[in-house]
Amino acid sequence: MGEEKSYHMTPEEFRRCGKELIDWIADYHQWIEWLPVMSRAKPGQVRASLPNSAPEEGESFEAMLVDVEKIVVPGITHWQSPNFFAYFPSNNSFPSILGDLLSSGLGVQGMLWATSPACTEIETQVLDWLVEMLALPEKFKSTRAGGGVIQDTASSSSLCALLAGRERATEFGSNERGCDGRLTAYTSSQAHSSIEKAAKIAGIGRANLRLIETDEQFAMRPHALSAAIEGDRRQGRVPCFVCATIGTTSSNAIDPLRQIGEICRKEGIWLHVDAAMSGTAALCPELRWIHDGVELADSYCFNPHKWMFTNFDCDCFYVADRAALIQTLSVLPEYLRNKATESGAVTDYRDWHIPLGRRFRALKLWFVIRHYGVHGLRHHVQRHVTMAQQFAAWVKADANFELAAPVPLNLVCFRHRAGDSVNQAILDRVNQSGEMFLTHTRLGDRLTLRLCVGQTKTELRHVERAWRQIREAVPARNQPAASGG
Ligand code: PLP
Repeated sequence: MGEEKSYHMTPEEFRRCGKELIDWIADYHQWIEWLPVMSRAKPGQVRASLPNSAPEEGESFEAMLVDVEKIVVPGITHWQSPNFFAYFPSNNSFPSILGDLLSSGLGVQGMLWATSPACTEIETQVLDWLVEMLALPEKFKSTRAGGGVIQDTASSSSLCALLAGRERATEFGSNERGCDGRLTAYTSSQAHSSIEKAAKIAGIGRANLRLIETDEQFAMRPHALSAAIEGDRRQGRVPCFVCATIGTTSSNAIDPLRQIGEICRKEGIWLHVDAAMSGTAALCPELRWIHDGVELADSYCFNPHKWMFTNFDCDCFYVADRAALIQTLSVLPEYLRNKATESGAVTDYRDWHIPLGRRFRALKLWFVIRHYGVHGLRHHVQRHVTMAQQFAAWVKADANFELAAPVPLNLVCFRHRAGDSVNQAILDRVNQSGEMFLTHTRLGDRLTLRLCVGQTKTELRHVERAWRQIREAVPARNQPAASGG
């Protein structure tokens, strides 16, 4: 019998194609700066360039790489561009890409400690390191009653926190009997939409999520929170969960954690802190004020996949009482039983989040921290904050523009004083130019431009150029007679 065709890529081919791809990625990162930041693809354009059916016969890697350049590159927004100032960053770095590649190469599924001890133990250790790196309370460490786990996103962390809060408030009865409609949850009107989604998924119901009013700086008003909780208790409701935000998506507002925490302590309500992007700032001792009061929280999350040079997806979620989280989420079918679990000596992360299966995500985080060291990470975060503060100073010094919110860290909310249509025109022009990407929000019902500095390769020259382009994009009729600055 002749040798059967295997169809697999041989190790030699993998070696050759892999090196080619690494070269391609390195080149991409070198020329990304000159690509139009926001994709100009029209709806359906990418799909129309793909064949209607899958290939019958396998194709060469070279052919795939050609299509990456022809179809993929024009069809993506270049999130890693140093001229990307939109939304919040989702930055990455070469050590992180290598860590992710290794994770794929090892192909480990770490649902249980027993299915790959290193996948669990490196994660536990790196998350304990991060407690120290961000000066978070010791209670979040695995060596105490708490611990950390990597989740895919902050949305998932908030959902898990809400579920644990719901269970704690009902003596773990909602899991058994279902929710009875009396449970209520609280967050500010500026909180991320993922909290509303979590309330829907967790059976709390959107109508039972109170969106607490904010002050003139867009931070939650603690008195309004107390009043809402009291009002609900009077009506026989069961408040179970409060989410405070450190760095709201819209304007980077910092909720007063200490006051909110004291209310939650007094009321016995689970407090979750969503520090999705801004938590990273706590790498810098001078910025740790953002976490004042975090020791009062039951859970906390931040996203290294936003601002800590770690590929999406990587959210670090901490709880002070891991037993409450595990009791909330644990289900143990016969086919997952094993001696290590039964010994009680190991962590099984399947009980710490929604999915059962999990990738070896800790590798990329471990590689990033080891490559940069705490000093290197701090250096870049400090530079980002300094550049944003410099941009804010330019806005403040220009009589035609104004700041629309405080600038505590790396996000600047600003607008032209001439009103919404002018700001919309500026936004459209700079984004159509392809030379940068900005997004907007509404603050005080006014269209507001947002510039967030957080890309791995952003330097002061990119921020300077952005400011120049923004001013040049002001419609001619709104240009000052002789523009200075
Ligand atoms: N929370 C805040 C404050 C955010 O800004 C964001 C995203 O921008 C999220 C949560 C959602 O993050 P993720 O995509 O990790 O769920």
